[in-house]
Amino acid sequence: MRGRVFRSPLTCRCGRSMQVRFPPSPCRWLTLGYYPRLLRLLNELDVAVRPDDLTFSFSRQESRIPYLIYNGLTGLKGLSVPATKSYLLAFLKVIYYSLSFIYLCIVCLLHYHLHFFRRIKDITFEQFCTEYFIPQQFSQEVLVPLYSAVCTCKESDILKYPAGLIVGNYPPSTPTDLDYIAAVFGTRHYTIASPHGFRTVVHALTSSIPRDRIHLSMPLSSISGSCPIYSLHSDNTTFGPFSQVILATPAPISASILPHTRDFLPIRKALETFRYVPVLVVTHTDPSFIPRAPSLQRDLHFQRRIQSPEVKSCKGMVESTHILHYRSPYLRSSQVFQTTNPLRSPQKEMILSQTWFERYLPSLESVRMTREIFSELGQGREGIWFVGSWLAEGIPLLEGCVESAEDVVERMISQKPKLM
Ligand SMILES: Cc1cc2nc3c(=O)[nH]c(=O)nc-3n(C[C@H](O)[C@H](O)[C@H](O)COP(=O)(O)OP(=O)(O)OC[C@H]3O[C@@H](n4cnc5c(N)ncnc54)[C@H](O)[C@@H]3O)c2cc1C
Repeated sequence: MRGRVFRSPLTCRCGRSMQVRFPPSPCRWLTLGYYPRLLRLLNELDVAVRPDDLTFSFSRQESRIPYLIYNGLTGLKGLSVPATKSYLLAFLKVIYYSLSFIYLCIVCLLHYHLHFFRRIKDITFEQFCTEYFIPQQFSQEVLVPLYSAVCTCKESDILKYPAGLIVGNYPPSTPTDLDYIAAVFGTRHYTIASPHGFRTVVHALTSSIPRDRIHLSMPLSSISGSCPIYSLHSDNTTFGPFSQVILATPAPISASILPHTRDFLPIRKALETFRYVPVLVVTHTDPSFIPRAPSLQRDLHFQRRIQSPEVKSCKGMVESTHILHYRSPYLRSSQVFQTTNPLRSPQKEMILSQTWFERYLPSLESVRMTREIFSELGQGREGIWFVGSWLAEGIPLLEGCVESAEDVVERMISQKPKLM
């Protein structure tokens, strides 16, 4: 995950001797259902995970009182609605949201397990909500902001998101094609057990690579040469020669650094159709980003911009604030929050660090490109390969990175006699 850090990552002292370093990496959660390859990799690397069942709440920009609270365990712990006007109204809302959630699960499970509704792979999320009669208020107030936060994009982008990536594709494009809703249903959330989070995974993956072969903070500007002799260029250094190159860079960056030969023209054009959106993550100690009352506080708080009731007019980002100390065994005595896409800035003196990321935003066209170009012809052409979350089916998450990396390794092994 790329990040521009404006201050050094926060370090926090826990207990007597241990120090916990916070972001840049904002990645935190895995679910049993959606991350089979990543969890297997962590197991092979001997990196322990611990259950961390997520709870979250939704509120509107002008209010710090949530209009809905999700109490975890894929809904088994129930929903709650704070009674701001009357207990009866709050009770009716709980019934409405619960029935809508059950209906959505039935549609997704029928699609995922019994392969109903083949059209879903060709439509947007907005079309899915309309055509499959997802209750309107539920989709506006829960699904759209939830996926806007999960995919770190605007609510209007979620409406155009390929429905198949969220609801699942049938027929599946790959044997491991997963449906975000049905695959995580009834499964638990996990997080890396170590206080160092995903740094532990990076260390486990890279510790056997000699240090002089790792070059950080050296953005590549171009690749020169031709198969089987390539050189990689950064502003003032050249690396190589290499016979095979695996690019793990964002698609538009890969397009700009590929050799300028006719062989790569169709691949470069395809790579240029992948769009990325900027994401801001701020770590701070400003408690005004979460509900005041401790009884209303949960792991994550989604705050929406005020908007009109029409789904079509949904605009803007959803701010999500993670209470880092809420359940962490390492942060009992501190108060630290991490807000993604804040609607306003935390007080200056309370900002600990802030980082910009770029995140792939799939469209029906880019998903088609992945299948048509990168599932076969575009991979390994003239010895150049691509990995990253943009190559896998599903919402771009870490599972997609592992899936695409394993796929490239398998293809390289099967071509080994040719490569030698
Ligand atoms: C706020 C936030 C929270 C998230 N939380 C989760 C989570 O809880 N669970 C989860 O599974 N996923 C999460 N994700 C998504 C996950 O981080 C991404 O899906 C994943 O990192 C994408 O990996 P990638 O390799 O495709 O791209 P990136 O991670 O973007 O990697 C691209 C790499 O290319 C490098 N690069 C760019 N330009 C150049 C250049 N010119 N030369 C050399 N290198 C270059 C970058 O530095 C970067 O290291 C989150 C994302 C965000 C933004």
